[in-house]
Parts: sequence; C-alpha cells; structure tokens
Amino acid sequence: MFRLLPSVPDHPALEEEILSWWEERGTFEQLRERNRGGPVWSFIDGPVTANKTLGVHTAWGRTLKDVFQRYKALRGFDQRYQNGFDCQGLWIEVGVERELGLNSKPEIEEYGLAEFARKCREKVAWSAQELIRGSKRLGQWMDWGNDYYTFSDTNISYIWRFLKLVHERGWLYRGHRSTEWCPRCGTSISAHELVGSYEERIDPSLFVRFPLIDRPGESLTIWTTTPWTLPANVAAAVHPDEEYGLQENGEWVAIKRYPDETYVERRPGAELIGWRYAGPFDHLPAAEGIEHRVIGWDEVTMDEGTGIVHIAPGCGTEDFELSRVHDLPVVMPVDEAGRFYDRFGWLHGLSTSESTEQIVADLAERGRLVAAGEYAHRYPFCWRCNTPLIFRIADDWFISVDEVRPRLLAANATVEWTPAYFGKRMDDWLRNMGDWNISRRRYFGLPLPIFPCSCGHVAVVGSRAELDDLATAGMDQLVELHRPWIDAVEIRCPACGTEGVRRIPEIGDVWLDAGIVPFSTLGWENPEFVEGGYGTGAAKGLTGADLPDHNYWETWFPAHWVSEMREQIRLWFYSQLFMSVCLVDKAPFRSVLGYEKMLDEHGRPMHGSWGNLIPAEEAFARMGADVMRWQYCNQPPDRDLLFGYGPAHEIKRKLLTLWNSLGFLVRYANIEGFRPTFDDLASGPVAVELRPLDRWLVVRTEKMLADATAALEQELTHRLIAAFESFVDDLSNWYIRRSRRRFYDYDEAAFRTLWFALVTGLRVISPVMPFLAEHLWRNLVADVCAEAPESVFLAGWPELGEPDERLLAEISEVRRVVELGREARSTAGVKLRQPLRRVYVRGARLAQEHAQEIVEELRVDEVGFDQGPVALVRLLPNLRALGPRLGRKVPEVKAALERGEVEELGDGRIRVAGEELSADEVIRGERVEIAGWTIAYDGTLSVALDTKLDPGLELRGRVYELIHTVNNMRKDAGLELTDRIVLTLPDGDELQSHEEWIKAETLASRIERGEALAITKA
Ligand SMILES: [Zn+2]
Ligand SMILES: [Zn+2]
Repeated sequence: MFRLLPSVPDHPALEEEILSWWEERGTFEQLRERNRGGPVWSFIDGPVTANKTLGVHTAWGRTLKDVFQRYKALRGFDQRYQNGFDCQGLWIEVGVERELGLNSKPEIEEYGLAEFARKCREKVAWSAQELIRGSKRLGQWMDWGNDYYTFSDTNISYIWRFLKLVHERGWLYRGHRSTEWCPRCGTSISAHELVGSYEERIDPSLFVRFPLIDRPGESLTIWTTTPWTLPANVAAAVHPDEEYGLQENGEWVAIKRYPDETYVERRPGAELIGWRYAGPFDHLPAAEGIEHRVIGWDEVTMDEGTGIVHIAPGCGTEDFELSRVHDLPVVMPVDEAGRFYDRFGWLHGLSTSESTEQIVADLAERGRLVAAGEYAHRYPFCWRCNTPLIFRIADDWFISVDEVRPRLLAANATVEWTPAYFGKRMDDWLRNMGDWNISRRRYFGLPLPIFPCSCGHVAVVGSRAELDDLATAGMDQLVELHRPWIDAVEIRCPACGTEGVRRIPEIGDVWLDAGIVPFSTLGWENPEFVEGGYGTGAAKGLTGADLPDHNYWETWFPAHWVSEMREQIRLWFYSQLFMSVCLVDKAPFRSVLGYEKMLDEHGRPMHGSWGNLIPAEEAFARMGADVMRWQYCNQPPDRDLLFGYGPAHEIKRKLLTLWNSLGFLVRYANIEGFRPTFDDLASGPVAVELRPLDRWLVVRTEKMLADATAALEQELTHRLIAAFESFVDDLSNWYIRRSRRRFYDYDEAAFRTLWFALVTGLRVISPVMPFLAEHLWRNLVADVCAEAPESVFLAGWPELGEPDERLLAEISEVRRVVELGREARSTAGVKLRQPLRRVYVRGARLAQEHAQEIVEELRVDEVGFDQGPVALVRLLPNLRALGPRLGRKVPEVKAALERGEVEELGDGRIRVAGEELSADEVIRGERVEIAGWTIAYDGTLSVALDTKLDPGLELRGRVYELIHTVNNMRKDAGLELTDRIVLTLPDGDELQSHEEWIKAETLASRIERGEALAITKA
C-alpha cells in the first residue's frame, strides 16, 4: 500500500522531515561512499563572504551548484564537495566597524588592531555557521565542517608565493597615480571593484569664470559638477581644433556649444593655448606659486559643458595623466578621509560634500559664478559602504598586466562559457584592464609580504617558512598572519644584510584571497598530504579541511566546472584566471556557468530599506526550498531573475498537475491492490501486454529523459524544467485522461506504465526538487519494493532506450487536433459533453493513424481527413508589395483569394492562381464563418466541427450531462470511488434506452423512478 497523498503538498513540513531522515540515514555519506573511486568531476566553490546569514540571492547560486553536483553524483562521479568562505578584507571590516560603532580609521586604531582582528574572526565564525545552517535547509549537500577559509595562514602563504613569483618576473611595482577612493573606508578602490557600483546621483552643475590675466575684462568659462575640485585647479583645457569665441559679456566659450550667440572675436583653440588666468581660489595658501594656464587637449568634448575643461590633476585620472604631459603641478586637496588639508584655509577639515555649498557661495560673492544648477548622472559609490567615491592621488602597489595579458586571453579561449557572451565579456575585460591595484590601506586582511629595505632592495617573502628563515624579531608573538602581529615582525634584508626591516602596512585586495583557491585548497606543490592541515592561523578550530599533496592537485585541477553570477567575470573568475596563468600558465576551470542579476518580482532591485528583500528563512517557511530551487532553475541564465512569492505561487499551481497525477495513481493502486515491479524502472514494463497508449507513454518518458539529460549536459536548467513540465502535461492530460477507466477496473499494464513514468519523472527532477522527489521515492518505491535503494539519490541516473520520434510526433499532432477541436467547440458555445456528428481535419498527416482517439476525445461520430470545410481566413493581396512584382496579374490573384482557392505552404506562404506569395505579400483578415460549422485553425492545421444537432445527438448529450451530475453528487455525498449506488431518475424522462450505459458510468446497481434525481448508497 502507498501512503495516500494530501490534496496539496506541505513543502516546508516534508522538507524538514526529509532533512532529518537524510541526517539519520547518512544518505550523503552513503552517496559519497558509493561514488568513491568513480570518474572525477571537479567543482570549485567560489567563496561566499562570511559576514551575513543566507540570503535568497546567495541561495540561487548555491542551488545551481547543488543541482549539478547531485546530477553528477547520480551519474557516479566522485566529487570533493568543498564549500568556501571569504573571510577578510573590507567586507568583513565594514560590518564589524558598524557593530562596534566605529566610524573612521583612527577610531579603529584607537580600539586596537588585535581586538579588532578578534572581532572580525568572531563575525566570520558566526556567519559561517549561519550560512551552513541556511544552505543545509536549502538542501545543499556539501562537506560541511571541512570548508576552506580564505584567512587561514595556508591560504595567505600560497598568495605570498604568488606575489613573490610576480615580483621575480618584475611585474610588481609601487605606483603613484590617481585612483577611485572611498573617503569613509580610507582606501583606494580597484577598477574591477567598480563593477555595478554606479548609481544615479544629482550633483551641482556650476559654470565658473576664470579671468584672463593678459586680456583685461575677458575670462574663460568652465563647467564642473565637482565643486570640491576647484581649489585644486591648475589649468584649463581647450580643444586645439575647435573654434572658440568671445561673447559681448567678455566670456570665452566653444562656439559649437553655443552656436546661436553673437561673438565679437573668434579663434581656433590652438591660439588660446598658453593664456594665463587667475585661478578660482588663488587667495588660499595651497594655490601659492601656481601659474594657471590654458593647455590643449584632444579629448575635450563638444557634447556638454562650455568646451573649456577645468583641470585638477590631484582629483582625476585624466587630469593626472595631463599633468605628466604638460608638467603641471599636482595639488591634492583632501586627505585619506576625504577632508581638506589645512593649506586650504577656511575649507580645512570639511568633507568634499560639506564644502559644496560654501564653495558655491564664495564664488558667487566674488563674482566668479556664471550660473549654478543641478546635474543628474551616473556616479560611482563604494561597493561596501555606499559612500560616493572621489579621486585621489595615492601610492599603491600594482601588478603590471601587459606581459601576462596575451597568456590570459589564450587561457580564456580554452574555457567554455555559458552563456557564451560571458566569455566575450571576459575577453573584453582582459583586453582593456589596466594594471592590478593590489594594495588597500586597511587592517584585517591579507598582509602584503613586501619588506622594502633602505638599501633599495624590496624583499617579497614567499611563504610562512621563508618568513621564519629571514625574521630577526617578532616571530614569538606571531599568532597568525594578520595585523597587528605581522607588523611587529622584522627581517634581515637578503641583499645587504641590514636587520630590522619592516613590512609595508598595506593589506591585499580580497580577490587575491579568492583567486588562489584552486592552488591553496588542492595542495599545489605541497610535498605531503596533511590531514586536517588546512585550518591554520585564524582558521584554526573552524575547519577540519585537509591540506592535500601535489598528486591530489594533479587530479582535481583544473576544475571541470565553476558557477557564479555575472559580476564575478571581473572578480573571482578573473583573479583565479590571473593567478593560475601566472603560476601554471593554464585556465583553472574548463567550463563556467554564469547567470544574471536577481530582482524582485516586479523587476526592482531588492533592498532592505525598500521592504522588498525576502529573507531566506521566510522563503523556506512560506514557499519551501523545493519551490525556491524550481524558481532559480527555471531561469534562463542570460536574463535577470524576478524572484518572489507571486512566481512561487504560480509554480505551486503548476506542480499540482504532477501532484494530482501521483494522487490518482496512489488512490487507485490502493483500491485495486497494485504492487509495483522494481525492474520496470530499467526500461518500462515487460512481460505484460502494453496497449499503444502505454507504449506511447514509455516512449514519452524516454523522450523526457533524453531532453532533460541534454539540458543538464548543456548546463541549462530551464530546459530541464521545460522538458519535465511538458512531460507532466502529456502524462496527465493525455495518458491519464485517455486511460482513466482502465484504472477503475484493474489493468496491470496501465498501472505499471503509469508508475514507471511517474517514478522516472521524479528521478529526473530530483536534482531540482530533492525533497519532494525523495519524499515520493520513499512512498512509491523504497517502501514497497524490497530491492529498491532507500534514497532516490542512491538509485543512479535513469538510462532508457532511444525514443521513437515518429510515434511522439504522431501523438503530439493528435493532441494539437484535439486542442483545436475543443477551441472550435468553445467558439461556437457547444459544450464538450454534447456529442457531434463529424469533424474534418486538414493538414494533419501524422494523426491519421489515430482517428479513433480523435473521435473519442472530440466526442464525434466520425472524422474525415483533408476533406470538408477548411478554416477560412479572409486573404487580401498586399498591393504595395504585389503590384510591382505581378503587375497585371494582380486582379486575377485577388479574385482567386476571394474565392478561397488557396494552398497553404507553411510559414505563412501560399500558392494562389499559380503564383507563390510570401507572408508579407498577403494581408490576413478576420476569419470567415461557414453556417453550421465551427472551425479552429493554427497555421498549418485546421479542424472543423459540424455543429448541427438532431434528436439522437441531443439525447446523448443529456445522458452525458446526467452522468456528470450524478458523479458530482457521489462526490458531494462522500462516497468511496468503489461504492455502488441506487439511482433515482425523475418520472417521465426519455433516457430508458441508455439505462445500461448510465448504470456503468455511475456505478449504479439499479435505477428507480421517483419525483427527483437522487442517489442512495446501495
Ligand atoms: Zn567605503
Ligand atoms: Zn638592504
């Protein structure tokens, strides 16, 4: 006996139940044991930042990872299942700062770096546990507890090794340049970190007058949206080839920008070069000794502003580059915290935004302001703390990329990207990226192992062991490779022998931490396998992960597959590729599945403050993990996912078709005492006579499996879902519909075929909906078949024969005919229960062998093919297109169209009056009704039903109505499906001739006569 199914599944409840059952049975461990020694499939998990609980965004990626790992496991692949956490750098620091109420770097330093590091580690440990809990609830199977943590000394030591190698090749250098800077975090931001960080913002729009020193009464007019950069102005740039003009009010501007103005003098930009002007803030000490002049610059745009550009080399990348070309002074207005230095007089201490109003007021007061307004544009914000970024000149450490660039491009060419355009994006990035800025002026992160000696030698320490060798002090207190402890270590300069050489204070870009993972976790060049050896430094006590040896790395590198969202192209995918190409000149992954963004169901980004963010816990409780997973998997990866409860509701509604089909099987199997045969799962029922419809369902199941397998091999989960959905629709709305009565009266072939099809469906959808599939496998298979594995995940991936495509095409066409027939009935307002005399079908070549099924489904007495009325659509010639081509033949074509003498050729093409016309040469008008017929039509196929009724048809229609009514009454009376009844029919009806039919259909043992229609249990 199967357990009866409730009317709808309670996803959260059954999921919790399956979670404890898996735990209790050690199902995952059994699976790993089963696949040990099998073919290797290497997946490397991109580390999730350990500073939060699980969110629905992260759950998307985790679901995809789990789906493919489960699928590969079902196919017998040996896998690692190692989860990873990103644990240091700005992400972690910002969260901890907030919790501690610290708002600036001096406050952190006052708090104490050792204590700050301890708090950061605590945060990571807490978040790791939360993320593991949430991921388990999502159904993700990983080797929890043996996770990698990027802040382990092992991981750090591997990065040091990479940096040493980069240094040996001469690619590591200290650069003085302009960089995007977060004033709150007090650090530069690297180009790849700017991805997606531009937001709409309103800035002031100022037109400012720079008086010309040698041309009294005249001035240059410039335009800026960053008033705080004006005190750092040193030059004004014009385009040498554009024409500039002097207006009557004494202002010089580009003529192209103001073509309708009157000009008293016109000159090419080249003639303005060298003119001297009074700077906007010459009275401040910072401007002392600066000679402001006009320079030429080909990049000056004529699209906005005045065509004269204000240049402040201390505040912008291009400005800084110009300062090198023209030997301009570089004035830095603000410090690390984005506040004006004291040499800026009354501006001292103000932030860039605080200074705006005062600068505008001051310019106005001194008669320098021409106009002020507002300007909306895209502006970069800090990706961690959301502070607007500014430009600053800073000394940072860079890795020069030019030499490695061609090798990166070559390595990327070996990678298979899904969707393919992600690979092109990576190529674009690789072609255009600048040098990698790897240093950050922060605290809890990868300590850069750079020790510059006063002799000029820069030592880059390549490992923890090398540090041991070189150190002369501070090793005894080095609890882990983090600040402040690492800062106290002193080394001997390997070049000159000087002792007391200290590390630079900077820490590294977090993408170094994540990029090294394919080496640090797989034991690259590690001489011996150390069990539990990965959890060193800050990771000690958090993980039992091993530090494998080089053999292991050879086995598992490169990864067969990695998967993350699109922004990772410039982040993790990039940093991994970069480090891997530097170390072993090879891509670290063979194939990548990327995916786009997640938005709320209305297409807006999810934000905590907008109230549309769905916490994962709430989603688990309200939709269930399986429905979330379905929603993630149903998403084509090249489009944004609109996630929410609305779509979840729709999925649950769709799943009811599956659920009701299962419920149907279970109900009648129990009534009729059906017991499944486990071996049927190998290739469909054997040793029982199958009817054509059964054979079709077996083939349909084979087809679904073939489609689903192809979808998974192509890494396109939405195609898997589509294959499954159309299978369930066919199974329910064709097979069960057509076979219903075979289940009322035990038909072994029908039971076995349906069981085989449903169970195979569950096995195929199990990677997407592991809980529901497991729950139903237990009920339908494991609990009733002694030889069945206890878990669907221990049963392997189904393997069936090649589907018979011809049979599938035939039935698919039959279903189209039936659907059109129903549509035609509904158009004419003829109920499905009313029998009709005949149907004529045109254009259905394959369905002809299934005439009987069409007759039954459409409730007609006969079917005719390619005869009778056709679906008439009024066709008119498109004279504009046809006139020139056919000329005088047009009237003949027009007349033939009117008479309906048309042959459809497919794709909208037709043949008429001996001419072949393309789709755009005819205009299709509305349908034409033919009296007594109702017609439906879908391009190549048409179905026409004769709607004329006679007394015989009407009477049979009434019998069908009666049977329907009585069966509803049985349901309302709560009768079992097998209960027999006594049926009372009203006196004087004329249904006597059909009494036997009525008795059979309503399970009536006898029919009595009475006043009104009634039933009683017999
Ligand atoms: Zn910031
Ligand atoms: Zn030295």
